Amino acid sequence: MGYYLYDARGYVGDLASTHGLQQVSEYVRRASNILLVKKFFDEGHAPITEDLMAGLRNLHPEDIEVAQTIDNLLQLLVKCDSIAIISDGVGVEYPQLTIHRGTHEIGGSCIELCSSSGNTRIIFDIGLPLVNKDMSPFDWNIHRKFTLPQLLERKIVPLIEGLYENAKPTVTAVVLTHAHLDHYGLLRFVHSAIPIYMSVGTRSLAEVSNVFLNTDVKFDRIETFEMAQTLRIGEFAIIPYLMDHSAPDAAAFLIEADGQRIFYTGDFRGHGRKSVLLDRIGKDPPPYVNYLIMEGSMLGRDEGLFLDETSVEQALYELILSQKGLCYVFTSSQNLDRLVSIYRATKRGGKILIIDLYTAFVLDKLSAISQRIPQFDWESVRVLYSYYHAQKLADFDRALLYKYKRAKIEFEEIRDNPDDKVLLAKDSRYFRSLITKLKGSGKAMVVYSMWHGYLERSNLQEFLESNNIPIKEIHTSGHAYIPELQMLVSALKPRWIIPIHTFYPEKFNDMFPNVIQVADGQTISLC
Ligand SMILES: [Zn+2]
Repeated sequence: MGYYLYDARGYVGDLASTHGLQQVSEYVRRASNILLVKKFFDEGHAPITEDLMAGLRNLHPEDIEVAQTIDNLLQLLVKCDSIAIISDGVGVEYPQLTIHRGTHEIGGSCIELCSSSGNTRIIFDIGLPLVNKDMSPFDWNIHRKFTLPQLLERKIVPLIEGLYENAKPTVTAVVLTHAHLDHYGLLRFVHSAIPIYMSVGTRSLAEVSNVFLNTDVKFDRIETFEMAQTLRIGEFAIIPYLMDHSAPDAAAFLIEADGQRIFYTGDFRGHGRKSVLLDRIGKDPPPYVNYLIMEGSMLGRDEGLFLDETSVEQALYELILSQKGLCYVFTSSQNLDRLVSIYRATKRGGKILIIDLYTAFVLDKLSAISQRIPQFDWESVRVLYSYYHAQKLADFDRALLYKYKRAKIEFEEIRDNPDDKVLLAKDSRYFRSLITKLKGSGKAMVVYSMWHGYLERSNLQEFLESNNIPIKEIHTSGHAYIPELQMLVSALKPRWIIPIHTFYPEKFNDMFPNVIQVADGQTISLC
């Protein structure tokens, strides 16, 4: 049962509350002698006039729940400029939500929404976990040898009926928020008959990962969506919102199903290069959001020294400028905001940025979403060829090796003239051996521009110490800080908030009064 409000523009909102409209209308019949109000409740529709609003405001139910329902009703009616019709919701059914993974952890996000008819089932994100049961870091390389049934049994792949290649496909579609493996790393197991939707940038990054990270995504059935354009899949209407995140072209979704409106944030923040996006939602929020499924990665985490990407760029610039020898910057090649910061800081510092083939390919692919993304052939950018990367790229498309060649830099050039070079690096065997080989050429330093947790998990610090190379951390998070979470909630004014992508979902209760805690695999009705 539910109570839905419509005006001339269409659906306005629902009145579902702990106390149903029927009880309210009975109360009104007994307590009110305002004819218009009685008519409204009896007939289910009435013109929204000052008299009607005044009549409703004059009701003073003693029953708190009735009062709340009337308040809710008034709030909704204020927004209606013409006629409101209340359906008493007889026979109305609700969509079902199941968070298969992510209610109590960061990583492995996977959400299912099923329409009330059961005819449309959509999976939002299908990620690899980041931690094991005992909270130790998850390593896919240990598990990749297992078959799908073995992975299901080990609960690495969540059990979802009709989604995978081993069963009859009954899932309508898979929709991705962004190109981080903890949101799409299990895509390889999805049945080939099920369409997969993602943004253009997400597709580009997934293609690069296929070449370099063996993610094994099949691209023949992928459909791309445009931000802000309604995507209709079965009984669902989905509007993607471009979000600020460390992965470019990341989306949040406003999902409408069975008269309910659900906003799933994906991963987001408000302090990157596209912080304006969160401000925009704050100023012009989508109305009538009933359920907000919101990430909370930063709960229980430190905000760190650098609060935003602008201060990261400035700190990088100052460091690069003052560094006399070679400067290594450790970062993710898919964190576009950071690559831009490093490029700009290097250029301002009058130095040359050296990227590897993998990074050159990422930037090249992302040129499809923006002309402003630095490229291999831009002034002061050079490309370092490693045997491993060259092999991978040649297997995919040999022409790319020749394309990037005009910006190629030789090892000797770095060795003989390291002082004006900034080298983008990763913690891999190749880069460790490069660092060792370049040891004799002046005083190098390392900037660690990634999440501190990754540094803690590795022995990189010991390695650098043994090579007498100092390390400095310059980083800002890809995830929303608490005030940014609060800002989004106050803009969207959801009836309910469901935490996801957090190790501390209970901390949501300290911040918001209307939180629903769910467990992985638990199905709830969005009523
Ligand atoms: Zn992410």
